[in-house]
Amino acid sequence: MKAKKSLGQNFLFDPLLLSRIIDAAGITREDTVVEIGPGPGKMTELLAQRAKSVLAIELDTELYERLKTELSGYFNLEIINMDVLQYPFAQQEPFKVVANIPYYITTPIIFHLLESRSKLRSMTLTIQKEVAERIVALPGGKDYGVLSLSVQYYADPAIQFIIPKEAFRPVPKVDSAVIRMDIREKPPVQVNDEQMLFRIIRAAFSQRRKTLSNALKPLIPDCREYLIRADIDPVRRAETVSIQDFARLADLIS
Ligand code: SAM
Repeated sequence: MKAKKSLGQNFLFDPLLLSRIIDAAGITREDTVVEIGPGPGKMTELLAQRAKSVLAIELDTELYERLKTELSGYFNLEIINMDVLQYPFAQQEPFKVVANIPYYITTPIIFHLLESRSKLRSMTLTIQKEVAERIVALPGGKDYGVLSLSVQYYADPAIQFIIPKEAFRPVPKVDSAVIRMDIREKPPVQVNDEQMLFRIIRAAFSQRRKTLSNALKPLIPDCREYLIRADIDPVRRAETVSIQDFARLADLIS
């Protein structure tokens, strides 16, 4: 069967590599696992052998029909044919995600899963290496931004290992990384108003080359005074500002 580029189909077949991903996710017989985009189902089968139960969500009807037949012997496996972004994860029992996801919707998938963080325990995702580097980035570099701060607020991300592009069929343009994100019990900073915190972060990075006081002015006209009160030099750029700094600023403003 020909892989569909429009659905981000780059498949993994190496059983050792797939096992290594499942090991990195720390899957045991106790776990309910969600796999997004099972594709030809090589990892799905290993997951069904190692987890308590598996829910696999595949948008491609042709692949879905094939999986239903080929993996019909696994009674702890449920396969559904739908768009993962429409799936109501909040209704799930506590679960872990293990998936080689379609890259064209990497951030929508992560944010959709984070919305169900009360049930989500961890996500171990194979994603573009460059996106994984942005997720784990710390203040001080070009990779650090809204994605780093949003994920790190809710989860503790760590890159597990790199998968060279040659391991996929068809071979994509870039290398991938397996990243594990464990959901935090509580955020690394406490703020009065989470929405305000993220409005400030988005505004600060919307013009990341500008100084903070210039980038924040459209949102908070007298931001210079607030920045000084929060002990943040107004000429700094967003990429140097930690979550703790942003939290102090948000609390002063809200
Ligand atoms: N897990 C398989 C593997 O590693 O070989 C396939 C990975 S492939 C990168 C991504 C898979 O996600 C494809 O099977 C594709 O059809 C499926 N997919 C694409 N968009 C999707 C969506 N919105 N919801 C669910 N599955 C989707």
